[in-house]
Amino acid sequence: MSGCVLVVMEIRGGKFRRVSYEVAGEGKRLADRLGSDVCAVALGSGISGEAVGLGRYGVDKVYVLDDPSLEHYVPEVYSALVAEVVQRCNPCVVLLPASLNGGDLSARLAGRLEAGLAQDCTQILCEDGKIKAKRPVFSGKCFAWCEWAPGALPLISCRPNVMDCLAPQEQKRAEMETLQLPIPERRSEVRTMDLDTTGKVELTEAEIIVSGGRGMKGPENYALLQELAQILGAAVGASRAAVDAGWRPHSDQVGQTGKVVNPNLYIAVGISGAIQHLAGMGSSKYIVAVNKDPEAPIFSKADYGVVEDLFTFLPVFNEEMKKFKSTCS
Ligand SMILES: Cc1cc2nc3c(=O)[nH]c(=O)nc-3n(C[C@H](O)[C@H](O)[C@H](O)COP(=O)(O)OP(=O)(O)OC[C@H]3O[C@@H](n4cnc5c(N)ncnc54)[C@H](O)[C@@H]3O)c2cc1C
Repeated sequence: MSGCVLVVMEIRGGKFRRVSYEVAGEGKRLADRLGSDVCAVALGSGISGEAVGLGRYGVDKVYVLDDPSLEHYVPEVYSALVAEVVQRCNPCVVLLPASLNGGDLSARLAGRLEAGLAQDCTQILCEDGKIKAKRPVFSGKCFAWCEWAPGALPLISCRPNVMDCLAPQEQKRAEMETLQLPIPERRSEVRTMDLDTTGKVELTEAEIIVSGGRGMKGPENYALLQELAQILGAAVGASRAAVDAGWRPHSDQVGQTGKVVNPNLYIAVGISGAIQHLAGMGSSKYIVAVNKDPEAPIFSKADYGVVEDLFTFLPVFNEEMKKFKSTCS
């Protein structure tokens, strides 16, 4: 197979998001099997310094477009620019993060490039020089393997927190090419004014998530989950029932119509385990469920279950976790 493996980096607040390093790592593993190079495309504002460091993560060449107008993701602008880079470097495969913006960008790229898109993949293989990608379907109840016809460009978005980042190699440097591309005019009236990321662990990147459902009974009781999240360095999530009730913002919703998360540890408190919720967190590495109903479906998915009233359990558990934490430091 000729052509490089092209990875599209996602930037927030002038820094590459963790999922970008995961995609770069997967790109490197794939390139080694294909006998090709890894190229990266990085669009943003004030990102040249960050881009230089990508060599440490297995990237051979970085195409950079650093411009203040690219500070926030603008769908029609980003997709036009990345499509242009794809056409210039003629890769054999393109990998992107399956994040909110990555999902949007990859669909637009597929349209512009008439490429075959496999979204939200959890595994990529290279067999006899042919690329295969595995993705969950039917709310994670089964998996589909995608293959591409000869000559078709595989466009693959990778589920966050599934693929491993490469351990940084201190000495390696990537070649940098500053793109001299005209930035297309934005057509959209939507403007991102600011991103408030202060102090909040992003759900899709969190190693640990503490999630609450209708069993929490009201918004005020989420203080218990927030306390636990603070002790564990976790993000707080919610079921749709809690979001629909107005107890939590929609950005916290986990599930089929919320975010798909894949943390090392998912603690589901007062959540029954409806299929639409499981679709968003079923691939977490360890699942702990706290529910007073021993028949709750979440227990069939959980690695550890606590059958208890959450209002009895959480205060005691939080205290024990605090004590445990203090012995660790
Ligand atoms: C098209 C579609 C898309 C959907 N998308 C999503 C989605 O993205 N995410 C999502 O979550 N849902 C989604 N849903 C909704 C889903 O079907 C469920 O209705 C929802 O997940 C239920 O939320 P819950 O588990 O918090 O509430 P319930 O199902 O009401 O469960 C509450 C649980 O709390 C337990 N409980 C109550 N009190 C206590 C207590 N004191 N101590 C311990 N346990 C207690 C109960 O035993 C129960 O198991 C979707 C539905 C549809 C139709």
